[in-house]
Amino acid sequence: MVDLKSQYHAIKSEVDAAILNVIENTAFINGPEVKNFQAELEKYLGVKNVIACANGTDALQIAMMALNLKPGDEVITATFTYVATAEVIALLNLTPVLVDVYPDTFDIDIKALENAITPNTKAIVPVHLFGQCANMEAILEIAKKHNLYVIEDTAQAIGAEYTFSDGSVSKAGTMGTIGCTSFFPSKNLGCYGDGGALYTNDDELAKKIRMIANHGQNIQYYHDEIGVNSRLDSIQAAILRIKLRHLDAYATARNKVANYYDAAFAGNPSIKTPVRSMRSTHVFHQYTLMVNNIDRAELRAYLASKDIPAMIYYPLPLHEQKAYANSRYAKGSFPVAEQLCKSVISLPIHTEMDEEQLEHITSSVLSFINKKQLV
Ligand SMILES: *Cc1c(COP(=O)(O)O)cnc(C)c1O
Repeated sequence: MVDLKSQYHAIKSEVDAAILNVIENTAFINGPEVKNFQAELEKYLGVKNVIACANGTDALQIAMMALNLKPGDEVITATFTYVATAEVIALLNLTPVLVDVYPDTFDIDIKALENAITPNTKAIVPVHLFGQCANMEAILEIAKKHNLYVIEDTAQAIGAEYTFSDGSVSKAGTMGTIGCTSFFPSKNLGCYGDGGALYTNDDELAKKIRMIANHGQNIQYYHDEIGVNSRLDSIQAAILRIKLRHLDAYATARNKVANYYDAAFAGNPSIKTPVRSMRSTHVFHQYTLMVNNIDRAELRAYLASKDIPAMIYYPLPLHEQKAYANSRYAKGSFPVAEQLCKSVISLPIHTEMDEEQLEHITSSVLSFINKKQLV
C-alpha cells in the first residue's frame, strides 16, 4: 500500500546524517531535535503550539485528559473511523456517542451530530478521514452554540487545508480546541517508529498538555496532575524535520495518483471514485473506492493474484465491533456507515508510484469489473 523504502532512498543521505547526529550528541529524549521539530511544525501549520508525544492514540487521550473530561461525560464521534478515536474515550470512562457519516465524503453527518447532543455532551471528535477535512465550519458553529470542545483527529489529514465561507483558510487540526495527529510510518508525515502530536492555539491548554504528557510535572519530581509518559524521541524528531520539508511535495504526488485513478475509473457504473469536499483540499492518505454489484472479496483476491495490495478501511463500523457493541446501537442504527463498510476498498497510494504501476493497477481493477459486468 505504501513504498517507504523508495521514499527513504530519495532522502537517505539527509536522514542518515540526522540520525547519526542524534546518536553522536546522545540527546535521545527531549533534545533540541524535538524542540526544533515542534517549532517547524508550528510554522508549517500556522498554530501557536505543537506538543509532540509518543503516538496518535496518546495524543487523543492526552487531549481528553487536558480538557478535564470526567466519567459520564459524553463525547461524540463518527462510527466510521479507526478504533483509536473511540478507544481513548472508553478508556477514560467517558461515554462514546456514535453518529453516522455522509455517504460521499465519509465525514460526520452534521444533522446526526446535532441530534446526538445531550446535557452531558462535552466534546466532539471530528475525524478528517482519508485525508480531507470534515465540515469544520458547521461543527465549530454547533460547538459554540452548545459550549463543546472540538478535538480534531487529524491523523490522516496533516497538511489538508479547509476554507471557511469568509474565505479564511486553516490547516487541518488547527481549527478546533485541540488537534491530534500521528506520525505512524504509513501516515502522510510518517517517522520510522511511533510518534504523534497535539496542536492548540490556547497557550494555557498547551502548558497543561505538556505537563500531562510528562507525568503531570512542570518542575521535575513535583506532580501537580495525574499524567502519562508520552514522548517523541529525538531520532524520530530528526527524521520528521527532514520529511516535513517534503510534505507538500508528497501531497502533490498523492494527488497525481488520485487524479490518475479518477480518470481511469470515470463513468464505470460499478465504481464510485472518492468525492472531493468543496471546502477542503485532499491529501489522500487513502484512495478509497466504493464498488457496487461486485464481490469485493473476489476483487481483492484477484488484485492480490496480480501482486496488487488492496485494503478494506474499515470492514466494521465501531458500533458493530465487539468491544464497542452497545444496546443503544443495534445493527441498522447507522445505515450509511454499515453500507460503506460493505463496499469500500482502498488502492495503493503513496509518493513513489510510477505510471507503469498505475497502469497495471487500473487495468487489473477494470478487467475484473468489466468481466463481472458481462455475466
Ligand atoms: C492512525 C490513526 C490514529 C492513531 O495513531 P497511532 O499513532 O497509530 O496511535 C488515530 N486516529 C486515526 C483516524 C488514525 O488513522
